[in-house]
Amino acid sequence: MLKLNQIWDNILIETESKVSTLSYDLYINTLTPVGMYRDRFILLAQSQALKNIVEDKYKELLKKCTNKVFPSIIDIEIVTEADLDRLCDVEKEVDIPVSNKFIVNTESTSSFSDKYTFDSFVVGKSNEFAAAVSRAVAEDPGKKYNPLFMWGGVGLGKTHLLHAIGNYINRNNPELRTAYLSSEQFTNELIEALRDPDNNSRRNFRNKYRFLDVLMVDDIQFLAKTEVTQEEFFHTFNELYLANKQIIICSDRPPKEINIAERLKTRFATGIIADIQPPNLETRIAILKKKCLEKGQQVDIKVLQLIAERITTNIREMEGMLNRIISYSTLVGGSCNDMEIVQEALKDYSDSSKEVITIDDIIDETCRYYKIDKKSILGKKKNKEIVIPRQVCIYLITDILSMPLVAIGEYFGGRDHTTIMHARDKISESIKDNQTLALNVKDIKDRLYNR
Ligand code: ADP
Ligand code: MG
Repeated sequence: MLKLNQIWDNILIETESKVSTLSYDLYINTLTPVGMYRDRFILLAQSQALKNIVEDKYKELLKKCTNKVFPSIIDIEIVTEADLDRLCDVEKEVDIPVSNKFIVNTESTSSFSDKYTFDSFVVGKSNEFAAAVSRAVAEDPGKKYNPLFMWGGVGLGKTHLLHAIGNYINRNNPELRTAYLSSEQFTNELIEALRDPDNNSRRNFRNKYRFLDVLMVDDIQFLAKTEVTQEEFFHTFNELYLANKQIIICSDRPPKEINIAERLKTRFATGIIADIQPPNLETRIAILKKKCLEKGQQVDIKVLQLIAERITTNIREMEGMLNRIISYSTLVGGSCNDMEIVQEALKDYSDSSKEVITIDDIIDETCRYYKIDKKSILGKKKNKEIVIPRQVCIYLITDILSMPLVAIGEYFGGRDHTTIMHARDKISESIKDNQTLALNVKDIKDRLYNR
């Protein structure tokens, strides 16, 4: 079933390129869809004068464009407010065939995880501003705080807040179109669109975003630095921004520190910037209490205190430790409030936030292992002594870190993500029957984990 807006949006897309911008804005884009009656699509004009103009000058064109996208719609009817009473049998949703001109499901709205709401988000000093602005944006998108730029370290609740905004809008303002995507998704979709030789996909790509009311882009630091990606993102951003649509961006660092085009940074800075800092002990305990409540688990305050004291900068990690204690106690048939069991559960626990392996660690360790220098491994040389370590290094990065292939490619001197994929697959295949190579890979990994 298609909603009226979806039909109308697609007719607009088809019509836009065939009239002047002025005519489009003054006349065509002021019409609103009323319904379908048999094979006729009915549009409302805001005045009799507008109706006359549209009928005189644009009706034939509209009819043609409509018929191109929706072959079964034969006619267009322009009505005014006064005609609405007699139109009682119109359909608001229709099941009609579409042609290949039908581009996007412009009605699409992302779904959000129902775990992540404002209610399940604990507010403390470190995140109160970000939480308050997120709420204001959710209540009144596109009005006051636009664009909203949120930044903060890993596991501090940025994605949680984005989902909370999305859930709130979907519930209270279901007619608004919201989209949540990672910057990697954006890049990948664009790459896909650019592959299409007849350029249709690129048009689809642009149209997919231009009908949104709320666009959320998570982890913008991973937006590919290629000119075309930056250009396309800038275009999307501008189009929505100028139409007063809400834009929300998250990053692990403030705008001025992200490695993206200057004009994008300037744009981000025109709105509101909210940071999220690591929560204090009291907030960390409050968060743990909330998580226990959600799980229906009774956990003593002394256990929560122990977790909150050990992990200070990453809530996800804190949750991980809590889960570990709960599952361990279930496994051994004891209580998660028995301090002995808790200690046992945490015996080999290493606080990975203190020992995070970074891409540089992996590159350095691989270079040391193969006795080559960093410049060569990241460079363009194609001799065997360099190529294999380079591929091993890429394989290890994809294996250990959850880093987008595009971002890895950039790190390796602007290589394409398909090259990165090829290197990864090559090694993961080779180690199945090349024992020496498998051992080398394992050695480097061991060194990384036992630094
Ligand atoms: P980020 O996107 O900043 O890396 P996430 O939003 O994915 O972090 O949060 C990681 C985990 O921590 C999620 O399970 C989230 O629910 C939880 N979390 C973070 N901050 C809070 C908070 N203030 N209240 C409740 N849960 C939180
Ligand atoms: Mg996140």
